[in-house]
Amino acid sequence: MPALDPADQQLALDLDRAHVFHSWSAQGALNPLVFAGGEGARLWDHEGRQYLDMSSQLVNVNIGYQHPRVVAAIKAQADVLTTIDPKHANLTRGRAAQLIVEKANLKGAGFEKVFFTNGGADANENAIRMARLYTGRDTVLSTYRSYHGNTGAAIVATGDWRRMPNQYARGHVHFFGPWLYRSEFWATTPEEESERALHHLERVIQAEGPDTIAAILLETVPGTAGVLVPPPGYLEGVRELATRYGIVLIADEVMAGFGRTGEWFAHQGFGVTPDLITFAKGVNSGYVPMGGVIISPAIAHAFDERVFPGGLTYSGHPLAAASVVATIEAMTDEGIVENAARIGREAIGPALAALQAAHPDVVGEVRGLGCFWAIELVTDAASRTPLPDADMARIRSALLARGVLPFVQNNRIHVVPPLVVTESEISEAFGHYDAVLTEMFPVAR
Ligand code: PLP
Repeated sequence: MPALDPADQQLALDLDRAHVFHSWSAQGALNPLVFAGGEGARLWDHEGRQYLDMSSQLVNVNIGYQHPRVVAAIKAQADVLTTIDPKHANLTRGRAAQLIVEKANLKGAGFEKVFFTNGGADANENAIRMARLYTGRDTVLSTYRSYHGNTGAAIVATGDWRRMPNQYARGHVHFFGPWLYRSEFWATTPEEESERALHHLERVIQAEGPDTIAAILLETVPGTAGVLVPPPGYLEGVRELATRYGIVLIADEVMAGFGRTGEWFAHQGFGVTPDLITFAKGVNSGYVPMGGVIISPAIAHAFDERVFPGGLTYSGHPLAAASVVATIEAMTDEGIVENAARIGREAIGPALAALQAAHPDVVGEVRGLGCFWAIELVTDAASRTPLPDADMARIRSALLARGVLPFVQNNRIHVVPPLVVTESEISEAFGHYDAVLTEMFPVAR
Protein backbone atom coordinates (compact mmCIF):
# COMPACT_ATOMS: atom_id res chain seq x y z
CA MET A 1 0.00 0.00 0.00
CA PRO A 2 1.54 3.40 -0.95
CA ALA A 3 1.96 6.16 1.65
CA LEU A 4 -1.39 7.68 2.54
CA ASP A 5 -2.30 11.05 4.00
CA PRO A 6 -5.35 10.68 6.31
CA ALA A 7 -6.10 14.39 5.82
CA ASP A 8 -6.99 13.60 2.22
CA GLN A 9 -9.96 11.54 3.43
CA GLN A 10 -11.93 14.59 4.55
CA LEU A 11 -10.66 16.67 1.61
CA ALA A 12 -11.96 14.04 -0.83
CA LEU A 13 -15.38 14.17 0.81
CA ASP A 14 -15.41 17.98 0.94
CA LEU A 15 -14.48 18.37 -2.74
CA ASP A 16 -17.01 15.74 -3.74
CA ARG A 17 -19.77 17.43 -1.76
CA ALA A 18 -18.89 20.84 -3.18
CA HIS A 19 -18.41 20.02 -6.86
CA VAL A 20 -19.44 16.53 -8.00
CA PHE A 21 -22.98 15.95 -9.26
CA HIS A 22 -23.60 12.21 -8.81
CA SER A 23 -25.39 9.83 -11.18
CA TRP A 24 -28.58 7.99 -10.12
CA SER A 25 -28.72 9.92 -6.84
CA ALA A 26 -30.67 12.58 -5.01
CA GLN A 27 -27.87 15.07 -4.45
CA GLY A 28 -28.92 16.08 -0.94
CA ALA A 29 -28.54 12.70 0.74
CA LEU A 30 -25.16 11.51 -0.46
CA ASN A 31 -22.73 9.64 1.75
CA PRO A 32 -20.15 8.22 -0.66
CA LEU A 33 -17.28 5.94 0.29
CA VAL A 34 -13.81 7.30 -0.44
CA PHE A 35 -11.22 5.18 -2.24
CA ALA A 36 -7.57 6.07 -2.56
CA GLY A 37 -6.03 2.91 -4.02
CA GLY A 38 -6.43 -0.76 -4.76
CA GLU A 39 -4.71 -3.98 -5.74
CA GLY A 40 -6.16 -7.34 -6.81
CA ALA A 41 -9.54 -7.70 -5.10
CA ARG A 42 -8.84 -5.11 -2.39
CA LEU A 43 -9.41 -1.37 -2.09
CA TRP A 44 -8.45 1.11 0.63
CA ASP A 45 -9.21 4.66 1.63
CA HIS A 46 -6.81 7.47 2.66
CA GLU A 47 -6.90 6.32 6.28
CA GLY A 48 -5.77 2.83 5.28
CA ARG A 49 -9.19 1.21 5.89
CA GLN A 50 -9.32 -1.86 3.64
CA TYR A 51 -12.25 -3.37 1.75
CA LEU A 52 -12.48 -6.80 0.15
CA ASP A 53 -14.33 -6.05 -3.07
CA MET A 54 -17.21 -8.43 -3.73
CA SER A 55 -18.79 -6.01 -6.22
CA SER A 56 -16.10 -5.36 -8.85
CA GLN A 57 -17.46 -1.78 -8.53
CA LEU A 58 -20.24 -1.90 -11.16
CA VAL A 59 -19.36 -5.50 -12.02
CA ASN A 60 -16.60 -4.27 -14.32
CA VAL A 61 -13.24 -4.77 -12.59
CA ASN A 62 -12.81 -8.33 -13.85
CA ILE A 63 -9.01 -8.30 -13.82
CA GLY A 64 -8.80 -6.68 -10.36
CA TYR A 65 -7.26 -3.36 -9.39
CA GLN A 66 -4.03 -1.96 -10.79
CA HIS A 67 -3.04 -5.00 -12.84
CA PRO A 68 0.61 -4.12 -13.59
CA ARG A 69 0.53 -5.20 -17.24
CA VAL A 70 -2.54 -3.13 -18.01
CA VAL A 71 -1.23 -0.07 -16.17
CA ALA A 72 2.12 -0.38 -17.99
CA ALA A 73 0.39 -0.70 -21.39
CA ILE A 74 -1.62 2.48 -20.80
CA LYS A 75 1.55 4.34 -19.79
CA ALA A 76 3.46 3.02 -22.79
CA GLN A 77 0.69 4.06 -25.20
CA ALA A 78 0.49 7.49 -23.54
CA ASP A 79 4.15 8.01 -24.33
CA VAL A 80 3.54 7.33 -28.03
CA LEU A 81 0.11 8.64 -29.07
CA THR A 82 -2.75 9.61 -26.76
CA THR A 83 -5.55 10.27 -29.25
CA ILE A 84 -6.44 9.36 -32.80
CA ASP A 85 -9.59 10.01 -34.89
CA PRO A 86 -11.59 6.78 -35.48
CA LYS A 87 -11.35 7.19 -39.25
CA HIS A 88 -7.59 6.63 -39.20
CA ALA A 89 -5.96 3.23 -38.80
CA ASN A 90 -3.95 2.54 -35.68
CA LEU A 91 -2.01 -0.60 -34.84
CA THR A 92 -3.12 -0.83 -31.19
CA ARG A 93 -6.78 -0.42 -32.13
CA GLY A 94 -6.53 -3.06 -34.86
CA ARG A 95 -4.86 -5.48 -32.48
CA ALA A 96 -7.58 -4.87 -29.85
CA ALA A 97 -10.31 -5.64 -32.41
CA GLN A 98 -8.46 -8.75 -33.56
CA LEU A 99 -8.16 -10.09 -30.00
CA ILE A 100 -11.81 -9.37 -29.18
CA VAL A 101 -12.95 -11.28 -32.28
CA GLU A 102 -10.63 -14.16 -31.39
CA LYS A 103 -12.08 -14.43 -27.88
CA ALA A 104 -15.67 -14.26 -29.18
CA ASN A 105 -14.68 -17.45 -30.99
CA LEU A 106 -17.15 -16.99 -33.84
CA LYS A 107 -14.70 -16.84 -36.72
CA GLY A 108 -16.16 -20.16 -37.88
CA ALA A 109 -19.40 -18.24 -38.43
CA GLY A 110 -17.45 -15.50 -40.24
CA PHE A 111 -17.36 -12.87 -37.48
CA GLU A 112 -14.41 -10.51 -38.04
CA LYS A 113 -15.53 -6.94 -37.28
CA VAL A 114 -15.78 -4.80 -34.16
CA PHE A 115 -17.36 -1.35 -33.87
CA PHE A 116 -15.85 0.55 -30.95
CA THR A 117 -17.75 2.79 -28.55
CA ASN A 118 -16.95 4.42 -25.20
CA GLY A 119 -19.03 2.11 -23.01
CA GLY A 120 -21.99 -0.26 -22.81
CA ALA A 121 -24.95 2.04 -23.45
CA ASP A 122 -23.55 3.42 -26.69
CA ALA A 123 -22.67 -0.15 -27.73
CA ASN A 124 -26.35 -1.10 -27.41
CA GLU A 125 -27.38 2.18 -29.04
CA ASN A 126 -25.31 1.38 -32.11
CA ALA A 127 -26.29 -2.30 -32.19
CA ILE A 128 -29.95 -1.22 -32.24
CA ARG A 129 -29.19 1.24 -35.04
CA MET A 130 -27.41 -1.47 -37.04
CA ALA A 131 -30.35 -3.85 -36.58
CA ARG A 132 -32.87 -1.21 -37.67
CA LEU A 133 -30.89 -0.20 -40.75
CA TYR A 134 -30.16 -3.82 -41.65
CA THR A 135 -33.77 -5.02 -41.39
CA GLY A 136 -35.55 -1.81 -42.38
CA ARG A 137 -37.77 -2.45 -39.35
CA ASP A 138 -38.30 -0.36 -36.25
CA THR A 139 -39.37 -2.24 -33.14
CA VAL A 140 -36.92 -3.55 -30.54
CA LEU A 141 -38.08 -6.28 -28.18
CA SER A 142 -36.32 -6.46 -24.82
CA THR A 143 -37.11 -7.89 -21.41
CA TYR A 144 -38.66 -6.16 -18.42
CA ARG A 145 -35.91 -7.50 -16.20
CA SER A 146 -32.99 -5.83 -17.91
CA TYR A 147 -30.63 -2.89 -17.95
CA HIS A 148 -29.07 -1.80 -21.25
CA GLY A 149 -27.61 1.61 -20.42
CA ASN A 150 -28.53 5.23 -19.97
CA THR A 151 -28.68 6.76 -23.45
CA GLY A 152 -31.60 7.33 -25.86
CA ALA A 153 -32.61 3.89 -27.16
CA ALA A 154 -30.65 1.92 -24.54
CA ILE A 155 -32.58 3.39 -21.62
CA VAL A 156 -35.91 2.75 -23.35
CA ALA A 157 -34.87 -0.82 -24.14
CA THR A 158 -34.10 -1.18 -20.43
CA GLY A 159 -37.00 -2.99 -18.79
CA ASP A 160 -36.65 -1.97 -15.15
CA TRP A 161 -37.72 1.24 -13.37
CA ARG A 162 -34.83 3.24 -14.77
CA ARG A 163 -36.52 3.65 -18.16
CA MET A 164 -39.57 5.46 -16.74
CA PRO A 165 -38.44 9.10 -16.42
CA ASN A 166 -36.32 8.79 -19.57
CA GLN A 167 -38.78 7.27 -22.01
CA TYR A 168 -38.37 9.52 -25.04
CA ALA A 169 -37.88 7.06 -27.91
CA ARG A 170 -40.45 5.08 -29.88
CA GLY A 171 -40.32 1.55 -31.23
CA HIS A 172 -39.75 -0.46 -28.05
CA VAL A 173 -41.80 -3.35 -26.67
CA HIS A 174 -41.00 -5.37 -23.53
CA PHE A 175 -41.58 -9.01 -22.70
CA PHE A 176 -40.91 -11.31 -19.73
CA GLY A 177 -37.86 -13.52 -19.73
CA PRO A 178 -37.71 -16.74 -17.71
CA TRP A 179 -37.11 -16.90 -13.94
CA LEU A 180 -38.56 -19.98 -12.29
CA TYR A 181 -38.34 -18.71 -8.69
CA ARG A 182 -40.76 -15.88 -9.52
CA SER A 183 -42.33 -17.42 -12.60
CA GLU A 184 -44.69 -15.25 -14.64
CA PHE A 185 -45.92 -18.41 -16.34
CA TRP A 186 -46.96 -20.61 -13.38
CA ALA A 187 -44.20 -23.02 -14.33
CA THR A 188 -42.93 -25.62 -11.88
CA THR A 189 -39.78 -26.90 -13.65
CA PRO A 190 -36.97 -25.14 -15.54
CA GLU A 191 -38.04 -26.90 -18.74
CA GLU A 192 -41.62 -25.70 -18.34
CA GLU A 193 -40.42 -22.14 -17.59
CA SER A 194 -38.27 -22.18 -20.71
CA GLU A 195 -41.01 -23.52 -22.97
CA ARG A 196 -43.67 -21.11 -21.65
CA ALA A 197 -41.36 -18.08 -21.78
CA LEU A 198 -40.60 -18.94 -25.42
CA HIS A 199 -44.31 -19.31 -26.16
CA HIS A 200 -44.91 -15.88 -24.57
CA LEU A 201 -42.12 -14.32 -26.67
CA GLU A 202 -43.47 -15.83 -29.87
CA ARG A 203 -46.96 -14.49 -29.06
CA VAL A 204 -45.47 -11.01 -28.51
CA ILE A 205 -43.69 -11.24 -31.88
CA GLN A 206 -46.90 -12.30 -33.59
CA ALA A 207 -49.03 -9.69 -31.82
CA GLU A 208 -46.63 -6.84 -32.68
CA GLY A 209 -46.24 -8.08 -36.27
CA PRO A 210 -43.04 -9.99 -37.14
CA ASP A 211 -42.25 -7.74 -40.11
CA THR A 212 -42.08 -4.68 -37.83
CA ILE A 213 -39.50 -6.15 -35.44
CA ALA A 214 -35.85 -5.25 -36.01
CA ALA A 215 -34.23 -6.86 -33.00
CA ILE A 216 -34.56 -8.94 -29.90
CA LEU A 217 -32.13 -7.42 -27.41
CA LEU A 218 -31.35 -9.41 -24.29
CA GLU A 219 -28.65 -9.83 -21.71
CA THR A 220 -27.34 -13.37 -22.18
CA VAL A 221 -27.43 -13.65 -18.39
CA PRO A 222 -29.45 -10.68 -17.04
CA GLY A 223 -27.17 -9.02 -14.48
CA THR A 224 -28.53 -6.12 -12.44
CA ALA A 225 -31.97 -7.75 -12.70
CA GLY A 226 -30.63 -10.50 -10.45
CA VAL A 227 -28.20 -12.81 -12.29
CA LEU A 228 -31.02 -14.75 -13.91
CA VAL A 229 -29.27 -17.69 -15.56
CA PRO A 230 -31.57 -18.78 -18.41
CA PRO A 231 -33.06 -22.29 -18.12
CA PRO A 232 -32.09 -25.06 -20.55
CA GLY A 233 -33.25 -24.43 -24.10
CA TYR A 234 -34.30 -20.81 -23.63
CA LEU A 235 -31.52 -18.99 -25.49
CA GLU A 236 -31.50 -21.65 -28.21
CA GLY A 237 -35.26 -21.09 -28.54
CA VAL A 238 -34.85 -17.30 -28.79
CA ARG A 239 -32.19 -17.81 -31.47
CA GLU A 240 -34.59 -20.06 -33.37
CA LEU A 241 -37.45 -17.53 -33.14
CA ALA A 242 -35.19 -14.67 -34.28
CA THR A 243 -34.01 -16.68 -37.28
CA ARG A 244 -37.53 -17.82 -38.15
CA TYR A 245 -38.94 -14.28 -38.16
CA GLY A 246 -35.90 -12.54 -39.71
CA ILE A 247 -35.14 -10.64 -36.50
CA VAL A 248 -31.61 -9.61 -35.45
CA LEU A 249 -30.56 -11.18 -32.13
CA ILE A 250 -28.48 -8.77 -30.05
CA ALA A 251 -26.75 -10.33 -27.04
CA ASP A 252 -25.88 -7.67 -24.47
CA GLU A 253 -22.72 -9.06 -22.86
CA VAL A 254 -21.66 -5.76 -21.31
CA MET A 255 -21.78 -7.34 -17.83
CA ALA A 256 -21.73 -11.06 -18.66
CA GLY A 257 -18.81 -10.91 -21.12
CA PHE A 258 -15.05 -11.18 -20.67
CA GLY A 259 -14.91 -14.00 -18.17
CA ARG A 260 -17.63 -13.06 -15.72
CA THR A 261 -19.54 -16.34 -16.28
CA GLY A 262 -16.38 -18.46 -16.45
CA GLU A 263 -16.34 -18.29 -20.28
CA TRP A 264 -14.85 -15.51 -22.39
CA PHE A 265 -18.41 -14.69 -23.50
CA ALA A 266 -21.58 -15.97 -21.86
CA HIS A 267 -23.14 -17.05 -25.18
CA GLN A 268 -20.40 -19.67 -25.47
CA GLY A 269 -21.77 -21.47 -22.42
CA PHE A 270 -25.17 -21.79 -24.08
CA GLY A 271 -23.99 -22.72 -27.57
CA VAL A 272 -25.85 -19.83 -29.20
CA THR A 273 -24.54 -17.49 -31.93
CA PRO A 274 -26.09 -14.01 -31.73
CA ASP A 275 -26.01 -11.61 -34.70
CA LEU A 276 -24.58 -8.72 -32.69
CA ILE A 277 -22.75 -8.89 -29.35
CA THR A 278 -22.28 -5.78 -27.25
CA PHE A 279 -19.47 -5.54 -24.73
CA ALA A 280 -17.78 -3.04 -22.37
CA LYS A 281 -16.86 -3.40 -18.66
CA GLY A 282 -14.63 -6.51 -18.50
CA VAL A 283 -13.03 -5.89 -21.91
CA ASN A 284 -10.49 -3.73 -20.06
CA SER A 285 -12.04 -3.67 -16.57
CA GLY A 286 -12.93 -0.01 -17.06
CA TYR A 287 -9.33 1.18 -16.69
CA VAL A 288 -10.12 3.51 -19.63
CA PRO A 289 -13.69 3.90 -20.99
CA MET A 290 -14.32 1.35 -23.75
CA GLY A 291 -17.13 -0.68 -25.31
CA GLY A 292 -18.26 -1.96 -28.66
CA VAL A 293 -20.25 -4.27 -30.90
CA ILE A 294 -19.06 -7.52 -32.48
CA ILE A 295 -20.83 -7.78 -35.83
CA SER A 296 -22.00 -10.80 -37.85
CA PRO A 297 -20.66 -11.01 -41.41
CA ALA A 298 -24.12 -10.44 -42.93
CA ILE A 299 -24.68 -7.21 -41.01
CA ALA A 300 -21.08 -6.01 -41.45
CA HIS A 301 -21.28 -6.54 -45.23
CA ALA A 302 -24.61 -4.71 -45.44
CA PHE A 303 -22.52 -1.58 -44.88
CA ASP A 304 -19.88 -2.33 -47.53
CA GLU A 305 -21.43 0.15 -49.96
CA ARG A 306 -23.75 1.99 -47.62
CA VAL A 307 -22.61 4.46 -44.98
CA PHE A 308 -23.09 3.37 -41.37
CA PRO A 309 -24.38 6.60 -39.82
CA GLY A 310 -22.78 6.29 -36.40
CA GLY A 311 -19.55 7.13 -34.63
CA LEU A 312 -18.02 8.94 -31.68
CA THR A 313 -14.97 11.17 -31.49
CA TYR A 314 -13.24 8.83 -29.06
CA SER A 315 -14.28 5.45 -30.57
CA GLY A 316 -11.38 3.01 -30.28
CA HIS A 317 -9.35 5.48 -28.21
CA PRO A 318 -5.68 4.41 -28.23
CA LEU A 319 -5.30 4.40 -24.43
CA ALA A 320 -8.40 2.22 -24.18
CA ALA A 321 -7.24 0.00 -27.04
CA ALA A 322 -3.85 -0.49 -25.38
CA SER A 323 -5.57 -1.45 -22.14
CA VAL A 324 -7.79 -3.95 -24.03
CA VAL A 325 -4.79 -5.65 -25.62
CA ALA A 326 -2.97 -5.90 -22.28
CA THR A 327 -6.11 -7.05 -20.45
CA ILE A 328 -6.89 -9.85 -22.90
CA GLU A 329 -3.26 -10.97 -23.03
CA ALA A 330 -2.93 -10.96 -19.24
CA MET A 331 -6.26 -12.75 -18.75
CA THR A 332 -5.16 -15.39 -21.25
CA ASP A 333 -1.63 -15.88 -19.87
CA GLU A 334 -2.78 -15.93 -16.24
CA GLY A 335 -5.80 -18.19 -16.78
CA ILE A 336 -8.12 -15.60 -15.24
CA VAL A 337 -11.25 -16.84 -17.05
CA GLU A 338 -10.46 -20.38 -15.92
CA ASN A 339 -10.00 -19.04 -12.39
CA ALA A 340 -13.48 -17.47 -12.55
CA ALA A 341 -14.99 -20.81 -13.59
CA ARG A 342 -13.10 -22.75 -10.90
CA ILE A 343 -13.83 -20.26 -8.11
CA GLY A 344 -17.52 -20.37 -9.05
CA ARG A 345 -17.63 -24.17 -9.08
CA GLU A 346 -15.38 -24.92 -6.10
CA ALA A 347 -15.73 -21.90 -3.80
CA ILE A 348 -18.70 -19.57 -4.42
CA GLY A 349 -21.28 -22.22 -5.37
CA PRO A 350 -20.62 -24.43 -2.32
CA ALA A 351 -20.35 -21.40 0.01
CA LEU A 352 -23.74 -20.14 -1.21
CA ALA A 353 -25.32 -23.56 -0.70
CA ALA A 354 -23.95 -23.59 2.87
CA LEU A 355 -25.22 -20.04 3.47
CA GLN A 356 -28.70 -21.02 2.30
CA ALA A 357 -28.65 -24.14 4.47
CA ALA A 358 -27.65 -22.04 7.49
CA HIS A 359 -30.30 -19.37 6.83
CA PRO A 360 -33.16 -21.23 5.12
CA ASP A 361 -35.79 -18.68 6.01
CA VAL A 362 -34.10 -15.54 4.78
CA VAL A 363 -32.06 -16.88 1.83
CA GLY A 364 -34.82 -17.64 -0.66
CA GLU A 365 -32.66 -18.59 -3.62
CA VAL A 366 -29.01 -18.61 -4.68
CA ARG A 367 -28.13 -18.72 -8.36
CA GLY A 368 -25.33 -17.97 -10.79
CA LEU A 369 -22.15 -19.24 -12.38
CA GLY A 370 -18.49 -18.26 -12.63
CA CYS A 371 -17.99 -15.10 -10.55
CA PHE A 372 -21.57 -13.97 -11.23
CA TRP A 373 -24.03 -14.93 -8.46
CA ALA A 374 -26.99 -13.55 -6.50
CA ILE A 375 -28.45 -14.22 -3.06
CA GLU A 376 -32.21 -13.60 -3.06
CA LEU A 377 -33.25 -12.44 0.42
CA VAL A 378 -36.85 -12.84 1.56
CA THR A 379 -38.88 -12.22 4.72
CA ASP A 380 -39.75 -15.93 4.84
CA ALA A 381 -39.24 -18.90 2.57
CA ALA A 382 -42.93 -19.65 2.13
CA SER A 383 -44.16 -16.22 0.98
CA ARG A 384 -40.95 -15.29 -0.89
CA THR A 385 -41.67 -11.64 -0.06
CA PRO A 386 -38.56 -9.60 -0.91
CA LEU A 387 -36.66 -8.35 2.13
CA PRO A 388 -37.51 -4.65 2.61
CA ASP A 389 -35.11 -1.88 1.58
CA ALA A 390 -34.45 -0.89 5.21
CA ASP A 391 -33.15 -4.39 6.01
CA MET A 392 -31.01 -4.40 2.86
CA ALA A 393 -29.52 -1.03 3.84
CA ARG A 394 -28.63 -2.47 7.27
CA ILE A 395 -27.01 -5.51 5.65
CA ARG A 396 -24.96 -3.24 3.40
CA SER A 397 -23.80 -1.08 6.31
CA ALA A 398 -22.91 -4.12 8.41
CA LEU A 399 -20.83 -5.62 5.58
CA LEU A 400 -19.03 -2.33 4.98
CA ALA A 401 -18.26 -2.06 8.69
CA ARG A 402 -16.65 -5.51 8.42
CA GLY A 403 -14.51 -4.42 5.45
CA VAL A 404 -16.51 -6.08 2.66
CA LEU A 405 -17.60 -3.93 -0.27
CA PRO A 406 -20.87 -5.64 -1.28
CA PHE A 407 -23.08 -5.28 -4.35
CA VAL A 408 -26.57 -4.81 -2.94
CA GLN A 409 -29.42 -4.46 -5.42
CA ASN A 410 -33.08 -4.40 -4.35
CA ASN A 411 -33.54 -7.48 -2.09
CA ARG A 412 -30.38 -9.16 -3.31
CA ILE A 413 -26.68 -9.39 -2.57
CA HIS A 414 -24.86 -10.02 -5.83
CA VAL A 415 -21.64 -11.97 -5.31
CA VAL A 416 -19.53 -10.55 -8.12
CA PRO A 417 -15.86 -10.27 -7.11
CA PRO A 418 -12.98 -9.54 -9.48
CA LEU A 419 -12.16 -12.75 -11.35
CA VAL A 420 -8.70 -12.84 -9.73
CA VAL A 421 -10.28 -13.48 -6.32
CA THR A 422 -8.84 -16.38 -4.31
CA GLU A 423 -10.53 -19.19 -2.35
CA SER A 424 -9.40 -17.68 0.92
CA GLU A 425 -10.87 -14.28 -0.01
CA ILE A 426 -14.17 -16.00 -0.86
CA SER A 427 -14.22 -17.79 2.49
CA GLU A 428 -13.35 -14.50 4.23
CA ALA A 429 -16.29 -12.76 2.50
CA PHE A 430 -18.72 -15.59 3.24
CA GLY A 431 -17.66 -15.56 6.90
CA HIS A 432 -18.92 -11.96 6.95
CA TYR A 433 -22.13 -12.66 4.96
CA ASP A 434 -22.92 -15.47 7.42
CA ALA A 435 -22.12 -13.38 10.49
CA VAL A 436 -24.25 -10.45 9.31
CA LEU A 437 -27.26 -12.66 8.50
CA THR A 438 -26.87 -14.43 11.85
CA GLU A 439 -26.77 -11.11 13.72
CA MET A 440 -29.77 -9.70 11.87
CA PHE A 441 -31.88 -12.84 11.51
CA PRO A 442 -31.19 -15.35 14.28
CA VAL A 443 -32.45 -18.73 13.03
CA ALA A 444 -35.11 -19.07 15.72
CA ARG A 445 -36.52 -15.66 14.89
N1 PLP B 1 -25.72 -3.38 -20.52
C1 PLP B 1 -25.61 -4.05 -19.35
C2 PLP B 1 -26.00 -5.48 -19.30
C3 PLP B 1 -25.13 -3.40 -18.22
O1 PLP B 1 -25.03 -4.08 -17.06
C4 PLP B 1 -24.74 -2.04 -18.31
C5 PLP B 1 -24.23 -1.32 -17.13
O2 PLP B 1 -24.34 -1.76 -16.01
C6 PLP B 1 -24.87 -1.40 -19.55
C7 PLP B 1 -25.35 -2.09 -20.63
C8 PLP B 1 -24.47 0.04 -19.70
O3 PLP B 1 -23.09 0.16 -19.72
P1 PLP B 1 -22.39 1.60 -19.48
O4 PLP B 1 -22.73 2.02 -18.10
O5 PLP B 1 -20.94 1.34 -19.75
O6 PLP B 1 -22.95 2.54 -20.50
